[in-house]
Amino acid sequence: MARCYLISDFDVIVIGGGPSGSATALGCASAGMSVMVVEKGDELRDKPCGGVLPWVASDTVEGIIGKEIPSSVMADPNELGLYYVPPSGRRNGGRVAGYKIHNIDRILFDKWLRDEAGSVGAEFRYNTKFVEFEGTDPIKVKVEQDGEARTITSRFLVGADGVRSDVRAQLLPGQPAPVLLVAQELWEASGDFEDCFYGFFSSRVSSSYAYLIPKGQQLLVGLGVQPKQDPDLTSAMSTFKEWLAAEFALRTSEMVKREVWAIPYGFFHPGLGNVLLVGDAAGLCNPLSGEGIRLGIESGDAASTAISSEAESSSLIGAYVKDVGGIAEFVGSVYDFVQNLDDQGREKFVSDELNRRSQF
Ligand SMILES: Cc1cc2nc3c(=O)[nH]c(=O)nc-3n(C[C@H](O)[C@H](O)[C@H](O)COP(=O)(O)OP(=O)(O)OC[C@H]3O[C@@H](n4cnc5c(N)ncnc54)[C@H](O)[C@@H]3O)c2cc1C
Repeated sequence: MARCYLISDFDVIVIGGGPSGSATALGCASAGMSVMVVEKGDELRDKPCGGVLPWVASDTVEGIIGKEIPSSVMADPNELGLYYVPPSGRRNGGRVAGYKIHNIDRILFDKWLRDEAGSVGAEFRYNTKFVEFEGTDPIKVKVEQDGEARTITSRFLVGADGVRSDVRAQLLPGQPAPVLLVAQELWEASGDFEDCFYGFFSSRVSSSYAYLIPKGQQLLVGLGVQPKQDPDLTSAMSTFKEWLAAEFALRTSEMVKREVWAIPYGFFHPGLGNVLLVGDAAGLCNPLSGEGIRLGIESGDAASTAISSEAESSSLIGAYVKDVGGIAEFVGSVYDFVQNLDDQGREKFVSDELNRRSQF
C-alpha cells in the first residue's frame, strides 16, 4: 500500500553543496523531485583539495553529470602524468606509463557541478547553515541564515556536509568517524618536476600518502597523518620538504596558502531511516590517495537513485547500500591495505604499480 505523506516544502533537502551534494541534487531534480541544497559557504567556497581527478574518474563523473568537464574549470597544466616515489627515493620511482590525470580548480569545478544541478531545477541556499533536524515524515530541518533561524520540511534529508558532518553527528551520535588529517601548502617554488601528480610513500613522512602537484607557476605539497601521530603534521611536512629539496631540488620562496583539513579514514555510515549520508560524510574517500571527488559524485548519484526509486517503500537504506556497497568495500579494502603497510610493502607497492602500468 502506498504511504501517505504530509505536505512538505521539498521532497529532498541536501545539506552541503560539494560534489556529493550537487550530484545528489542533480539526480533527484532530474527525476522530477523538488530539491533544496543548504550550503553554509558562498557560491565560490574554497574546499581544501589537491584538485586532481584521474582520467578514469572523469569518465564516471561525465557519465553521471551527462556532460564533459569544461576546460574552464581546469588548472594549469590541465593534464598531469602520475609519478610514484617509494621510501628508497627517486632512483626507484618513476612515471607510471599511460596514466593521465585532470588538474582541476576546485572552486570552479564545484561551481560547475552546482550550476548543472541548478539547471535541472535544484534550488541552492548559500550562506545558510544546517543546525538540526527532527521528526521523520516530514523531516523538520532547522537552518540559520544571517543569524535568523528557519525551519524547512522535507520527506528525505541527505547529509552531504563533508568529513565532519553535522547531519551524521546528530543522526548517529557516538558512532566513530575517524579521520586522517591532511595538510597542504601552496608555494612559489621551483624544482626538478615534470607535469605530474607525485605520490610519495614513506613512513618518515606519512603512514598513508604525501603528494606534490604543479599549479601554474606554483607547487602544492601535502601529506596526511593520523591524529596524535608521531611525527605530527608540522614536523612531517618539514621532513617531506627536506626530502623534496634533496632529491628534486625543491626551492621554496613564498608560501601562498597553508590549509589543514581531513579525509574520512576507516568508516562507512550510509544513514538511517529516510536520512542518507553521501561522500565524505558517509566515509567514502580513498585512504591511500585521498581521492574523494569521484566517490562523492558516485554516492550522491546512488542516493538520488535510491530516493527516486524507493520513495514509496521502507527499504531506502537497503537500496542505497546495494548501489554504493561496492565503493564502500573498495574503500574498506584499501584502508586495510594501508593499515598493514610498512616501508617494505610501500617499496613493493610502487614497484608493482610501475611494472603493472608499463605492461599497458
Ligand atoms: C587537503 C585535501 C586534499 C584533497 N585532494 C583531493 C584530490 O586532489 N582529489 C580528490 O578526488 N579528492 C581530494 N580530497 C578529498 C575531497 O576533497 C573530498 O573527498 C570531497 O570534497 C568530498 O566531497 P563532499 O561533497 O562529500 O564533501 P565536501 O566537498 O567537503 O562538501 C561539503 C559541503 O558541506 C558544507 N557544509 C558543511 N557543514 C555544513 C552545515 N552545517 N550547513 C551547511 N553546509 C555545510 C561545506 O561548506 C561544503 O561545501 C582532498 C581532501 C583534502 C582534505
